[in-house]
Amino acid sequence: MKQGIHPKYEMATIKCACGAVYTVGSTAKNVHVGICAACHPFFTGKQKYLDTAGRVEKFKKRYSAPPAPPSKKALKKAADKAAAKAAQKAASKPAPRPAPKAAAKAAPKPETPTA
Ligand SMILES: [Zn+2]
Repeated sequence: MKQGIHPKYEMATIKCACGAVYTVGSTAKNVHVGICAACHPFFTGKQKYLDTAGRVEKFKKRYSAPPAPPSKKALKKAADKAAAKAAQKAASKPAPRPAPKAAAKAAPKPETPTA
């Protein structure tokens, strides 16, 4: 080994966010890691949710609960509204404008006898 070019290799302490501490040989003295074999889901077999903002709950709240079924009162109100609308439509429709040419062609004029 050439002298003076290699970093110093010594025992280093690796600290994980979960609290686990490992001592390994390294050129770095202290290393802080966010995840390790003691806490990674792959090794623990447990699923871990990192839901800090409550987004999962928000999503579930929004989409899991079905909308409340309409009450009898609401159904009756809707039926009344539909009936009123139909009546209004019928009232406004009694004098439909005759279609310009198709209607004239289809209905022969009674005033002009052909024979
Ligand atoms: Zn860990």
